[in-house]
Amino acid sequence: MSQPRVQIRPRRRPALHFLPLGGCGEIGMNLSLYGHGERGQGDEWIAVDCGMMIRQDLPDNPLQVPDLSTLETLSIRPRALIITHGHEDHIGAAAWLWPKWGCPLYATPLAAGLLRAKFVERGLATDAIQVIEPGEALETGPFTLRYLPLTHSIPESCALLIAAGDYRVLHTGDWKLDPEPLIGPAISAATFRAIAPVDLVVGDSTNAPMPGHSRSEGEVAEALSHTIARCQGRVVVSCFASNLARVLAIGRAAERCGRRVSLMGRSMERMVGVARGLGYLDDLPPLVPVTDLGYLPPEEVLVIATGSQGEPRAALSRLSRGRHPHFELMAGDTVIFSAKAIPGNERLIDRLKRGLQHFNVAILDDDNHPELHASGHPAQEELRTFYGWVKPRQLLPVHGEARHQQAHQALAEELGIQAPLTPVNGDLIRLDAEGLTLETRHPQRPHIVSQNAVSALPGLGSSDGSHRSRHGSLYLAIPVAATDTGWTRIGRLMLDASQTSPIDETAFADWLDDCLEEIEVDTLAELRLALQPRLLGWLADHLHRVPEVHLQILAVETEMLGK
Ligand SMILES: [Zn+2]
Repeated sequence: MSQPRVQIRPRRRPALHFLPLGGCGEIGMNLSLYGHGERGQGDEWIAVDCGMMIRQDLPDNPLQVPDLSTLETLSIRPRALIITHGHEDHIGAAAWLWPKWGCPLYATPLAAGLLRAKFVERGLATDAIQVIEPGEALETGPFTLRYLPLTHSIPESCALLIAAGDYRVLHTGDWKLDPEPLIGPAISAATFRAIAPVDLVVGDSTNAPMPGHSRSEGEVAEALSHTIARCQGRVVVSCFASNLARVLAIGRAAERCGRRVSLMGRSMERMVGVARGLGYLDDLPPLVPVTDLGYLPPEEVLVIATGSQGEPRAALSRLSRGRHPHFELMAGDTVIFSAKAIPGNERLIDRLKRGLQHFNVAILDDDNHPELHASGHPAQEELRTFYGWVKPRQLLPVHGEARHQQAHQALAEELGIQAPLTPVNGDLIRLDAEGLTLETRHPQRPHIVSQNAVSALPGLGSSDGSHRSRHGSLYLAIPVAATDTGWTRIGRLMLDASQTSPIDETAFADWLDDCLEEIEVDTLAELRLALQPRLLGWLADHLHRVPEVHLQILAVETEMLGK
């Protein structure tokens, strides 16, 4: 139980504000803003991370990036953009959105290297990108920020200790407690104990519903080594390119059993190139071009390939269709998925595996060999340990869907940490002597990258803004999970209507469930396409006027189905 707050307020101290524009209620597209001072009275702001997410439910799966119009409405312009680590959901929108700000941009060497490549690709100057080493501090306006190294599934992931006025906030970014991260040091408990207690933790909720502890990269390396040593024919291992520890572990395992290593896939080559330039992967055995693999006997070949998510254009998919110009799978080969299935990709992955089975290869994956992958996010035991170190007074659960945030909130409360809010994107939250309060809520309009520009995604049922202003807008997010035949709705429907006549949510949900049952399709984009006209039809039948509809279909973990 939380203690009643007894607070004497000799004078009003300026508030600290938190405004997430991505990453709350969803996994991906992280962007948070922190402000110090009273609104409109010389308040100063910084932005933390600037990520994208892939819209699986739209044709060609475009990138979605945060909507910056709330910042314009509130006259907020960050004085610096601070990056916690180099994952796409933390840096992938920077080259698209940063030009609006033109502010200094701080990142650790790997993330800075990846950002530079993105900036160059878009023809942007890179001199605003400043490198900061894990452990260092920087000052900007009223903010002092310290980069505190953590472990995660990419090197150099850092939490930020943000001090402004007399507030101290720990923004965790993505983390796990990995005693053997392979690249970089393990987390220093002493570093985090030394900053306790903090006023607020803004923390990673991804695995908060999971009991126990995440697996270490060291354990995965050992499992991979044993598994690869037992393989007879050629071995193809697919993992996320950014997981350099995993790439290194696979390379070492190959070397130990006399296999030569080759990389397949552009993102793998790019990531390994940037990492090598920084001195990471010095231990990776020399690489062999794919074109040379044909000269080697099968037991001397190992390929690290992209495409674990069934992406149709990635290396593994081409192999599964026999369309790779220099490499053909044969009976006796082994394909290892050293990655988990991202929700929504289940069907594509199934299709990929069916293709691979035609070649009579052995397939090892997260289902039959969970020891070959590790999550990069903290499960409950890790959250307890970490909060025992930093002793937060309050918590804002971010980086997760609503159910992850709620599990995180419940765990915090169990530990005596106040966690009154589960933020959604666009919530302007105030921290002051009274604690945390929601000041205002600003609905976010989806923005996507298309034809080399960022634009608001038009709603269904209208083609221009005038229609929208007359008939209001309806934001509808439908969480679904893959079933044997199609998709099923899971968890709460997220419905947010402005200026429209009220919708009978129960009737709507019943109709929607029947509808989903009838649609048998493989991808979220196909599901959306099939659902759109029916949805507009239902709304036309049940509402006086059809508003502009913003539909998002989100895939969630199938564990919710008790699998
Ligand atoms: Zn990450």
